[in-house]
Amino acid sequence: MTFDEAQKAIENQFKPVALGEEETALLEAYNRVLSEDVVSTLDIPPFNRSTVDGYAVRAEDTFGAEENQPATLNVCGIVNVGEQPKVVLSKGEAVEIVTGAPIPQGADAAVMVEDTEREDDMLHVFNAVTVNENVMKKGSDIKRGEVVLKKGQVLGSSEIGVLAALGLTAAKVSKIPIVAVLSTGGEVTEPGKVLPAGKIYDINAYSLSTAVIESGGKPVYFGVVPDDKAALAKALQTALASADMVITSGGVSVGPRDYTPQIVDSLGKPGIVVYGIAVKPGKPTTVGFVGDKPVFSLPGHPTSALLIFYLLARPLIQRLAGRPVAGMRMIRAAAGARMFSAKGRRTFVMVKLEFDKDCRLIAEPVESGASGAITTLAKADGFVEIPENQQFIDLDEEVAVVLFRNVSGKV
Ligand code: AMP
Ligand code: MG
Repeated sequence: MTFDEAQKAIENQFKPVALGEEETALLEAYNRVLSEDVVSTLDIPPFNRSTVDGYAVRAEDTFGAEENQPATLNVCGIVNVGEQPKVVLSKGEAVEIVTGAPIPQGADAAVMVEDTEREDDMLHVFNAVTVNENVMKKGSDIKRGEVVLKKGQVLGSSEIGVLAALGLTAAKVSKIPIVAVLSTGGEVTEPGKVLPAGKIYDINAYSLSTAVIESGGKPVYFGVVPDDKAALAKALQTALASADMVITSGGVSVGPRDYTPQIVDSLGKPGIVVYGIAVKPGKPTTVGFVGDKPVFSLPGHPTSALLIFYLLARPLIQRLAGRPVAGMRMIRAAAGARMFSAKGRRTFVMVKLEFDKDCRLIAEPVESGASGAITTLAKADGFVEIPENQQFIDLDEEVAVVLFRNVSGKV
């Protein structure tokens, strides 16, 4: 199957089932997805308020005032923050006011204290103001009845600030998809344990779980399963019972103990829909569905597993989470070396971005050696895609680099 065919086969089977919504406290709401529009029940600010320390006035009383010809008004009271003004302003009057306090009735502007001089109850105003000058009008930030945040918006600091401005303490958000992550292989050992000879620590469960979080899912670690049919079937069934999606790594090649695909296929309909993809790296990837639940069986090589996750699994998690499926960001650069493709396979070349002495952005291939090296991905800023029918990309050729992460600190 080509990469495009694999994507289509997954798309044909995938049903982004609604996981429902739940309520979360504002301080727990970071990075959650709103499951409904938020409509304001308030005007914000709730009253006309002064944006300066100074005096509330009738603008027309100050018309014509200037440095050597001040307008003179009579100070008839004071309004502090947090209080409802008791005074009502008449022609020729001013009321002392502080930033954030309500403008009293009768006033329609505020003059800055810096533009005034006070003698007892007499106020000289040296600068005319226009109607509404230095006044933030009621409802000018948010109007009552206005949709302030939309369903599907991801909550960050400013969105949570908006919810707080409305006096809310909780938000309705979409439930987070649960993604079971399990590793396979008799050689794979959980970190924290002593590493016996001939074994390696489990990388994939950790890199993939983190990638699940980045995609808006909640990973649940189901441990390392030995290459044993019965153990694998049991672990997968347990995972499928509680999770919305399952991601395994290892055991998908053509080794005598690579059982994952046949076990996934035996667990329910429709079973395996992608059985190997003409890509490099990641060729042995298989994808199946048990009922509506996707099961991604990624290769054991950490770089391959994570790359295929980014390309194929991440969009599904984003959709289950109700998030916008953000296409990966791209940037143009010049190839820093000739990059070869694997014959007949869509090839993803890991690159890091660097500037040359002329400030040109260069995509430098990361020495990979083998797709087994996790450091390959850790060093890379992204990848360059070479189509199936192309043999290589030449040195200096313009390429589009698909970014793994924000490299704004760098470019
Ligand atoms: P497999 O696909 O099971 O043949 O594994 C391919 C390679 O990836 C082998 O060298 C494995 O030891 C290695 N590998 C498999 N699973 C993991 C894992 N969870 N963490 C790190 N390396 C792994
Ligand atoms: Mg294995």
